[in-house]
Amino acid sequence: MKTKAHYDVMILGSGPAGLQAAIHAARRKVSVLLLGKSVKSSLFRAHVQNFCCIWDISGEEMLRAGREQAVRFGAHVLDEDVMQISRDGQQFVFQSESGQQIRSVSLIIATGAARKRLGVSGEKELLGRGVSYCVDCDANFFRNQEVVVVGDESAAVGGALDLLDYAATVHLVTKNLQVVDKLKKELEASRVVLHDGAAVEAIQGDDEVTGVLLKDDTLISASGVFIELGARGIMELATRLGVQLDAEAKYIEANKKQETNVEGVYAAGDICGPPWQVAKAVGEGCIAGLEAAAYAKKRKSVSTDS
Ligand SMILES: Cc1cc2nc3c(=O)[nH]c(=O)nc-3n(C[C@H](O)[C@H](O)[C@H](O)COP(=O)(O)OP(=O)(O)OC[C@H]3O[C@@H](n4cnc5c(N)ncnc54)[C@H](O)[C@@H]3O)c2cc1C
Repeated sequence: MKTKAHYDVMILGSGPAGLQAAIHAARRKVSVLLLGKSVKSSLFRAHVQNFCCIWDISGEEMLRAGREQAVRFGAHVLDEDVMQISRDGQQFVFQSESGQQIRSVSLIIATGAARKRLGVSGEKELLGRGVSYCVDCDANFFRNQEVVVVGDESAAVGGALDLLDYAATVHLVTKNLQVVDKLKKELEASRVVLHDGAAVEAIQGDDEVTGVLLKDDTLISASGVFIELGARGIMELATRLGVQLDAEAKYIEANKKQETNVEGVYAAGDICGPPWQVAKAVGEGCIAGLEAAAYAKKRKSVSTDS
């Protein structure tokens, strides 16, 4: 399937919330693109026994079936993360991991829950004193300094490349790089110092971060450590659109129609907060899909009338 340059409804996230949103939106005869990797859904490794009407099923099987349904109803699927989102008038503009630029009328954010911790010594103790989970929020504090980014996926690579505009030196510590070729080439052509096949043993420092010790005993001297595990941090991308988060900036706030505070932007699933359950994710995905499709249709009729 070839991805088009424009869709009525763009869905970020290919877990149960995004899949259900795609199924319901596509049945409303609007064009739908689902962006995201099902293998990265938190459901992928789960075994589910508490979803109504199904006694016992693997998460992987649920995701495969949901994807087939979405495609059968006409949704397009692209197995990539989104790297950038912006607004151009009434349209949303996305850049995918491979650099494709895609536009949409409405947007559903269904990218799952919170940030993963690294779980090494110094991480908790030095949080806010050199340890950060948000390049967009904290890059500016590390102007002309030496920083380390930790992670294997698009969040880490995108974060490291962004940090080049701020820090004097950017190191990327990665166990096993898992990004599309284009992003990998961009990284290799950049000034980022790559520590491939490496893992963090500890983050060092008393009052603030002074360095990162790798498992092979390499010590990288640094004043900042950005832990970017997983896909490109959607909170950073969402806040750039003006989407309202909760007080702790962990979840997106959405009303009963799954609308966020930004017109045309909806959110569903774990990203909207607990309980982290498939039943809640698909319920919210269903509403978001219907609402986002209705919004896109309304916008299109307004622009045809005028
Ligand atoms: C071990 C385990 C067991 C579980 N067991 C159960 C259970 O028995 N019953 C139950 O109801 N729930 C269970 N859950 C919880 C359930 O898996 C989640 O509540 C559910 O998957 C949430 O769905 P979601 O669509 O909101 O997010 P997810 O399923 O996490 O999907 C998020 C999607 O967003 C994508 N994404 C992230 N960032 C980006 C980006 N930048 N660009 C594009 N896409 C992006 C990911 O690739 C992924 O496709 C379990 C979870 C785990 C981890």
